[in-house]
Amino acid sequence: MTRGSHVLIVDDDESLNRSLSSILGAEGYRISSRDTAVDLIDTLNQDTVDLLILDIGLPGVDGLSALDTVKRHPVHRDLPILILSGAPAGEASVEALGLGAADFVTKPFRLDDFLARIRAHLRAGRELTEARSAARSEAELTALLKEASSAASPAEIFQALVRRIANGLKISRCSIVLDDENGETATVVSAFESPSLRHLTIELRRYPELLGPMVTLAPLLITDVGDDPIFASVRELWRIEGRLVPTTSVAVVPFRIKAHRPGAFYLRTAGDDDRLAPADLDFAVRVIEAANPVLDRAYDFEEALRRQDEMRQLAETDPLTGLFNRRALRERLEREISRAERNNTVMSCLMLDIDLFKRLNDTYGHELGDRVLVQLADLLRREQRAMDVLARLGGEEFVVVLPETGMRGARIYAERILRKVGAATLGTAQHPVQITVSIGIATFPDERVTDTDSLLRLADTNLLRAKADGRNRYRD
Ligand code: GH3
Ligand code: MG
Ligand code: MG
Repeated sequence: MTRGSHVLIVDDDESLNRSLSSILGAEGYRISSRDTAVDLIDTLNQDTVDLLILDIGLPGVDGLSALDTVKRHPVHRDLPILILSGAPAGEASVEALGLGAADFVTKPFRLDDFLARIRAHLRAGRELTEARSAARSEAELTALLKEASSAASPAEIFQALVRRIANGLKISRCSIVLDDENGETATVVSAFESPSLRHLTIELRRYPELLGPMVTLAPLLITDVGDDPIFASVRELWRIEGRLVPTTSVAVVPFRIKAHRPGAFYLRTAGDDDRLAPADLDFAVRVIEAANPVLDRAYDFEEALRRQDEMRQLAETDPLTGLFNRRALRERLEREISRAERNNTVMSCLMLDIDLFKRLNDTYGHELGDRVLVQLADLLRREQRAMDVLARLGGEEFVVVLPETGMRGARIYAERILRKVGAATLGTAQHPVQITVSIGIATFPDERVTDTDSLLRLADTNLLRAKADGRNRYRD
């Protein structure tokens, strides 16, 4: 496979040049030779070179500085370079390898050994070039990191990473999985194949290939899923479920977020995709190593959002019942009123107050009273439609907002609540209690209602009428 590869020899020893040329030519390589490293980059720009054999002691530009120049070059840095030296391996070899030489060979050398090294480096070099060829240049990597670091949300960061890797490797499936650290599940935070997916929980026992790498941090490549023993435990499961397994090859590249949370990039090919090869794994490893700070950032970002969310929820929630508090209710009501106005639809607001609650508190104690408040909140929750808003106004007063509901619907709702509350036994097993509630209904539009305040006032007025008329009833 490495036959036909282009090998460039740069050595000022003309007889060595000639003999190497004929030996390597006989092996099927295409050979060029030069006696100086001056303008070496120009030469590399003019013709594709697969391997460079470079003498260390050259007049003009010496071998090590030529090596350094090539290894710093954005296009040619992956070119494998074999350094030839007349002096025994020592400091120079350390320096050469440190500068990125693929190998260091001392003259004179054994021919069979030399040829074996050339073959190995050509193979490694080709893999790297192949991995790079599909737009995997430094520029691509930089663009990825730039995109991911300027992303406006963790979801976008994750999505940028999977998209770039999938496109770079020309594979159909690439996702980011984070270990939930419970020994059982992991979360798919992003998947190239389904961009809208967010936080899908998977059972790790179904993905044995993910487990090992996330623990050991060693990347895993399975070039043929068909007969790999790692899938032995799940193959039976797949058969029972009648699942078709179109996956042909798999690569798992593990990482740690913030140095602790295990995760992995999960790359798969299916159907006619070219299977993943070692070079692809190398590429993915490189990208993911480079992307680690970006992953950390996404994680910090997500944590911050989560905390913000928690704070907001805390600020909006009545701590006893978990319902919205008065502040959040006002906000929701304003929204619903303007929505009804804009869309020319109706909405209703019910104010509920527990009847003679003071007596219940006095009889059984405040603690049991609290318990009853929570139980009433739960009862209301069970009657809640997705868009309804439940709030505790304070004390033993609750408000229910029913969007898209007019007077008729509000009355039906109020009747149902009266019935359910009346039928419920609350309190504790030791102190079972029954309660009733009174309800005031206000509906929008109504000539008395112009805003949130007037809506709540109308509901309150009707609540007081319900109380005055004997409690355990609604008024509108
Ligand atoms: P009415 O039928 O006229 O509404 O009678 P009521 O006793 O329910 O009304 P009132 O407004 O006189 O009393 C409300 C009582 O609710 C006063 C207080 O003991 C009780 N209460 C208010 N907030 C809480 C609370 O958070 N926990 C408990 N356990 N009781 C509360
Ligand atoms: Mg009351
Ligand atoms: Mg009250």
